[in-house]
Amino acid sequence: MIPIDLRSDTVTTPTPEMRRAMASAEVGDDVYGEDPTVRRLEETAAALLGKEAGLYVPSGTMGNLVAVMTHTRRGDEVLLEAEAHIYYYEVGGMAVVAQVLPRLVPGRRGVLAPEDVLGALRPANLHFPRPTLLCLENTHNRAGGTVWPPELFEAVSTTARRAGLAVHLDGARIFNAAVRLGRPAAELCRTADSVMFCLSKGLAAPVGSVLVGPADWIARARKNRKIVGGGLRQAGVIAAAGLVALETMVERLAEDHENARRLALGLAGIGGLLVEPDKVETNIVMCDVSGLRVTAVEFARRQAEKGVLANAVDARRLRYVTHKDVSRRDMERAVTLVAETASETRAGA
Ligand SMILES: *Cc1c(COP(=O)(O)O)cnc(C)c1O
Repeated sequence: MIPIDLRSDTVTTPTPEMRRAMASAEVGDDVYGEDPTVRRLEETAAALLGKEAGLYVPSGTMGNLVAVMTHTRRGDEVLLEAEAHIYYYEVGGMAVVAQVLPRLVPGRRGVLAPEDVLGALRPANLHFPRPTLLCLENTHNRAGGTVWPPELFEAVSTTARRAGLAVHLDGARIFNAAVRLGRPAAELCRTADSVMFCLSKGLAAPVGSVLVGPADWIARARKNRKIVGGGLRQAGVIAAAGLVALETMVERLAEDHENARRLALGLAGIGGLLVEPDKVETNIVMCDVSGLRVTAVEFARRQAEKGVLANAVDARRLRYVTHKDVSRRDMERAVTLVAETASETRAGA
């Protein structure tokens, strides 16, 4: 039996329309700026997010790294919410490559208040590093796909900018936030200087992310992308799928959100699991297994044997992510199989 793969929305495979667009894509050498499909993707992405220019990058991790490199100088201090993907899951690239100092600011479900930013800023002093950048995340991955209230995002980013910091938005799943709120993505990024979003998650393109921002800033980011080896040649072959993703895959994210809600309601009824369906805003469901006295890693292993794949995100929590390659029926089957796993875990405890 084919497992129900809820490890991530990155497991999505390209649609037939994407494969057709890839096969017939017009291409050129993008390092020379001669790939018309990449250019069209960069322009389309920039327009959708309300920014001047875009830069196609092979991964979200590279997009965030290039953003940090372009906003900072070596030794600068970068403020991030404490559970930020850039800090947690990007192999310390900001320290290794950009050579900046992360300053973690604890939020509530991934979201900060203006006071949090003000509280983290120190007056100019010989002893202190120079704070130059605030990174925010929408939707917030480790907080469970939470959506920033737009007014709060504006207040926090405006506060940071008034204090002289640039604001970068890790918007890997910004379109999930936009669909959830029923508002254009550009409205959610207005007060960010730069934004990165992923084409290869819920939007189901095989490869790629786009970094957007002011035209002169993107020109500098293009050089930094080259430094980290991200200058690609006939990348129109993959960018073509990204264009189809933006044209055809955004609105359907609502289905993923509905499936996540159904999954959460089902899991919440299973003894020993703690799931809060009211807190499921997009396509991520967090499930606490501490009531079962097994680690999340062990629970993930056992449910995988039954055909449900999900990742442990810490010692007690698993993360289930819905996407276009799982159906409403898969959600029902997943709940049944997770319930079996939980009851065996209880019996064996
Ligand atoms: C997935 C993700 C990234 C990185 O994207 P990759 O393409 O996997 O490198 C960055 N930020 C967030 C919030 C993500 O979920």
